[in-house]
Amino acid sequence: MNPLLTAARFAPVHKAVQVSYLESDLVSTVDQNIEKLNNHLARFESDGIPNRIAGRDVPGSAGVFESTSPVDKSVICDVAHGSAEDIDAAATAAADAFPDWRDMAATQRRKILINVAEAIEARAEEIALCECWDTGQAYRFMSKAALRGAENFRYFADQVVQARDGKHLKSPTLMNITSRVPIGPVGVITPWNTPFMLSTWKIAPALAAGCTVVHKPAESSPLTARLLIEIAEDAGLPPGVLNAVNGFGEVAGKALCEHPKIRAIAFVGESRTGSLITRQGADTLKRNHLELGGKNPVIVFDDADLERALDAVIFMIYSINGERCTSSSRLLVQDTIRDEFEAKLAERVKNIKVGHPLDPDTEVGPLINEEHYQKVTSYFDIAKQDKATIAAGGEAIGDTGYFVKPTLFTNANNAMRIAQEEIFGPVLTSITFSTEEEALAIANDTPYGLTGYVWTNDLTRALRFTDKLEAGMIWVNSENVRHLPTPFGGVKASGIGRDGGDWSFDFYMEQKHIGFATGQHKISRLGVQ
Ligand code: NAD
Repeated sequence: MNPLLTAARFAPVHKAVQVSYLESDLVSTVDQNIEKLNNHLARFESDGIPNRIAGRDVPGSAGVFESTSPVDKSVICDVAHGSAEDIDAAATAAADAFPDWRDMAATQRRKILINVAEAIEARAEEIALCECWDTGQAYRFMSKAALRGAENFRYFADQVVQARDGKHLKSPTLMNITSRVPIGPVGVITPWNTPFMLSTWKIAPALAAGCTVVHKPAESSPLTARLLIEIAEDAGLPPGVLNAVNGFGEVAGKALCEHPKIRAIAFVGESRTGSLITRQGADTLKRNHLELGGKNPVIVFDDADLERALDAVIFMIYSINGERCTSSSRLLVQDTIRDEFEAKLAERVKNIKVGHPLDPDTEVGPLINEEHYQKVTSYFDIAKQDKATIAAGGEAIGDTGYFVKPTLFTNANNAMRIAQEEIFGPVLTSITFSTEEEALAIANDTPYGLTGYVWTNDLTRALRFTDKLEAGMIWVNSENVRHLPTPFGGVKASGIGRDGGDWSFDFYMEQKHIGFATGQHKISRLGVQ
């Protein structure tokens, strides 16, 4: 048992309370949660996390690395350190398992994936607790993220039967049909922010399409990837259909991108890593789906419902520790309402509860790791150098773990680094505009284009504005509410490709055209004397 993992050794940043808004079976105090977590972690502490290849636990060929918790910097467990050798074994296992999985009756594949969804639901609390400890994410959000993971499996399971259907495109001489076939074994490379939900978001449609998978989870958050593969195999997923190799991006991740048996890479992570993924896959002509970073604007016009806008602005940058690709990290507020809006905002930001992630009352937990903590806190100095105002936060909290105060920068302009660079923490930069044209120019003046949020009650303005806003996903008078059938993805440096609905199958499957002659049409005759 990890001695650091006791309520007595770790004093929460704020007091534990019991809350009633979570699902009843997920409601418990921080002390109860820590006790349950200790029970779940015991097996990781004794056995570590091996790679999982062809249904077998396999040690990492490069030994082990340690996984630590951002809550108190304690070691959680040893993790298999995978290298090209392990990736080769996993890619071979995925290639061997592919024909049977591809050819399994769709109804049978669907049943297995539904079983996985149910098994995730049954272990949702364990997943949520482990995710919080591994990543620092607050339990109030992670309990729902685990269930979202189940929903991803259930949603794509329900598409399995139609996934291969095609079109019938008759021409004068041919009966043309199209069908879709799974592309083959694929690599899934995921980041550390909400890792369980994001892994299922990629793995569920890949499996539903009939592909087999090699998963390379983020080195900073290996726990729930292990739970996922365990759950999936227990629920009936055949060995080798899903394989997991832990390790670092530049070694294991790179080897996965370069492996000739892997037909495509589904990647979620930073934009600069997206470029590397593209380069690494060039020799083997990989198909890549890239879900990358963002510096997303939320634009608040003075005719909007300002109370709702305020709630949404706060939720979209301070939930999930601000470690969220779709976070609204740039607030563009109209000059006519700026003083009042920013004053209310600053007051609320100062009230956000930072604390132990397993306390159900906590709203913001610690950042993922030392490197990311150094990055986020460096922007506090950058903001000062650029002469922005720190209207809230701007400081770390203690040195027990990687806690920072939720932060608001005001008096900023869009040329500042705090407005241009993805900070990926609970840090919001507020910029003022006066006209719609100016708001649009500022909103689009970024390398990124993942999401945008527009708050106005002028319908024609909303139509005009969203038409010109450079983003893959836009919400009007709403925070980000994910609907699985809609396309998810970004433009510019925020990514290439879309997930969700049938768009996921477009990526994991190949379109095939077959033309059947319907008669004796004329065929040009060459070489005839
Ligand atoms: P990251 O790019 O550093 O790492 C992501 C994954 O890529 C990890 O598993 C890592 O090991 C691996 N990796 C690193 N270098 C690699 C290489 N050369 N070859 C192959 N794999 C490699 O990202 P991160 O810091 O873990 O995650 C945060 C980033 O993810 C943010 O930029 C965030 O915006 C982005 N993100 C985007 C979305 C989206 O849907 N657009 C969703 C979540 C997170």
